[in-house]
Amino acid sequence: MAQELYSTLGVSRDASQDEIRKAYLKLAHKYHPDKTGGDKEAETKLKQINGAYDILKSKEKRAKYDQYGSTDGSSPFGGGGFSSQGGFGGAGFEAPFEDFFDVLFGQGGGRKQGGGGGQPGNDLELRLKISLKEAYKGIKKKVRFNRHENCGDCSGTGAAPGSKPETCSQCNGAGQVRVAHGFFSVTRTCPKCAGAGKSISKPCRGCSGKGQVKSSRELSVDVPAGVDSGSRLRVTGEGEAGTGRAPRGDLYIHIHVEDHKLFKRDGNTIYCDLPISFTQAALGATLRVPTLSKEAEIKVPAGTQNGTQLRLRGMGMPDLRGYSDGDQIVIIQVETPSKLNKRQKEILEEFQEISDTKTYPKYKRFMDSILGGE
Ligand SMILES: [Zn+2]
Ligand SMILES: [Zn+2]
Repeated sequence: MAQELYSTLGVSRDASQDEIRKAYLKLAHKYHPDKTGGDKEAETKLKQINGAYDILKSKEKRAKYDQYGSTDGSSPFGGGGFSSQGGFGGAGFEAPFEDFFDVLFGQGGGRKQGGGGGQPGNDLELRLKISLKEAYKGIKKKVRFNRHENCGDCSGTGAAPGSKPETCSQCNGAGQVRVAHGFFSVTRTCPKCAGAGKSISKPCRGCSGKGQVKSSRELSVDVPAGVDSGSRLRVTGEGEAGTGRAPRGDLYIHIHVEDHKLFKRDGNTIYCDLPISFTQAALGATLRVPTLSKEAEIKVPAGTQNGTQLRLRGMGMPDLRGYSDGDQIVIIQVETPSKLNKRQKEILEEFQEISDTKTYPKYKRFMDSILGGE
């Protein structure tokens, strides 16, 4: 199975991202409808090519595909490849990480590792609370958080303007020193420069020589319709700044969908109670029901029992992956009349007199089973 996507693009499993891209462009060009004159087979082929590229172009999805042979959320993917050096500490928050998707800002995703020296920035994590209605519609949300930026005064070097960091004299810039240990020599982080490889004689005032300062960042994030608690959004390149020319970390946003007082959610299904009168239950009625989008009408058939579940197709949550919308289940709550006036009492008493076991089949079955000695 795991071989298929690669063979669709005609590349080997260890092809580089660039090779994959080139192979894709070549094939997409070859099977383009303009070239094939709308040939059905070519169209199918193009779809497969697009599908394969869609997964293989993303390092994240490709790694998942290589490991599990699929990229859907059902694989035992427990947040692998995810470094959480950022805030949070993990405690008190156990997200199932069911959903994983990228929100790309500007340039395409795929995080560059290293390059240009320096340490890549740490990832950051945020928790974002949204209402069920917001999860239903999808929403643009402003998030505000603190992160480290390279100091503007010293361009992140940590050295006061006009001066430069010098190569550390103890480790000669390696950041590590060898320490003799009996017969062995052990490599240790350089105590003088703490691994940076550089020493600063005149620290920058703006950042006290750290090269980075804390700053507040505000971002507008697109939260897609259908998210649930445990969904995680990745915003590429919005984490902590890297040192030197190393890339930024990513920002992970953990979604928490708040409970709604009327609607209960289970996956894409929405549940909602509907109180009706016992006469409506007996005679049948067409009633208005609230849903997440608008009011809907529902037909309650004559003789509907308490607890009956009626289905409003497609009125539940939209599907995050684009499959069909969930349903809304309406649970009938028959209300027994109370505080009857004289006239109501008379009518009901008369009704009781002319009722028999045919009116109440459930009661009849119950009595039969008692008398039958079962
Ligand atoms: Zn500075
Ligand atoms: Zn050093």
